[in-house]
Amino acid sequence: MKTAMPPLRAASTQGSRITLDDGRVLIDGIASWWTACHGYNHPHIAQAVSQQLARMPHVMFGGLVHEPAQRLAQRLAALLPGDLERVFFSDSGSVSVEVAIKMATQYWLNCGVRDRVKLVAFRGGYHGDTLTTMSVCDPEEGMHSLFAGVLPQHHVVGLPHDDAAHEAFERFLARHAHEVAAILVEPLVQGAGGMLFHDAAVLRRLRRSADAHGVLLILDEVFTGFGRTGSLFACEQAGIVPDIVTLSKALTGGTMGLAATIARRHVFEAFWSDDPMHALMHGPTFMANPLACAAANASLDLFEWEDRLGQVAAIAAQLEDELEPCRALPGVRDVRVRGAIGVVQLEAPPALGALKCRLVERGVWIRPFRDIVYLTPAFTIAPDDLSRLTDAVRAVVPIS
Ligand code: PLP
Repeated sequence: MKTAMPPLRAASTQGSRITLDDGRVLIDGIASWWTACHGYNHPHIAQAVSQQLARMPHVMFGGLVHEPAQRLAQRLAALLPGDLERVFFSDSGSVSVEVAIKMATQYWLNCGVRDRVKLVAFRGGYHGDTLTTMSVCDPEEGMHSLFAGVLPQHHVVGLPHDDAAHEAFERFLARHAHEVAAILVEPLVQGAGGMLFHDAAVLRRLRRSADAHGVLLILDEVFTGFGRTGSLFACEQAGIVPDIVTLSKALTGGTMGLAATIARRHVFEAFWSDDPMHALMHGPTFMANPLACAAANASLDLFEWEDRLGQVAAIAAQLEDELEPCRALPGVRDVRVRGAIGVVQLEAPPALGALKCRLVERGVWIRPFRDIVYLTPAFTIAPDDLSRLTDAVRAVVPIS
């Protein structure tokens, strides 16, 4: 890909720092697309992975199960609210959403309902890069507008932010519920689609609508899961239990690819049958890879042992203090913070290549996209390092 800033060669990582081949050290403001929540190279995760590597790096998950996966599934079920207790492992966020969509669609087929094959998703959303997940991303703002016309057709509508918008959404759902398998939404923060925030009340209303029309509710917590918005899972802030939830990214503390699609008991029961055609039609080769499960179990240990949510609250307070002055700068449209997510939105997309170069010159690794300059640091970042990141944002953002 021809870019204004060719990729830099990373040589090693530690904590919140990336060392380049040429010896430069960058403070990481985005934790490798918000995965490395404990910072890079946490010794506890490294030890768990190296012990698992010696014991059993991989074994197929068809006809066989193993302790790291069973333990991880039990721990996730215990952490998630309600009866979200049936865990299907895959290897990336996109695939976890694919599986959720397939699960919701097959749920209805298994129940003998053939027409409920459409998803309702929201503008500003991002759910992945595979063909089906592309079809439920924002059609304009996503990375996929080129593919309009070749993607499966689902309903992508405005997220109902207030009561009036919700009434319109209700009318829409009443008209279409007979063909809708599920509503799919990123809870509290629509991430890669634009770092857009919404209130927990929006999710409560969606839960009510889904119940009223007998539609499943899928929450994509690939971005928000594991503390990023201030609670372990964003759905906790709304006090709702989705029918299906997807997790990935920080699941392994950012060390390797792993994802989970977790269903409530009533969804699972539609698949629990003597009829082989009722089994969930998915089975990726590397599902529940033991190394990745060991990393994820070690990551959950760290959430238990160390006060990650306290760190997120401290990061939120510091981001609010230190990014707020950006609001007065020329070319800034909005400044917003939720949990360990700080966003400066510009009036218009800047020259991104030049902006990225200026950030690297300042010794920080921040990756603006479109009109968004954002920080999603490791929860373990030192306050001084976070200040260096916010200093850099304040320095580069004035765009006239
Ligand atoms: N869902 C959400 C909410 C995401 O933020 C992302 C990635 O940014 C995905 C799904 C896709 O995950 P992956 O890139 O691991 O396929």
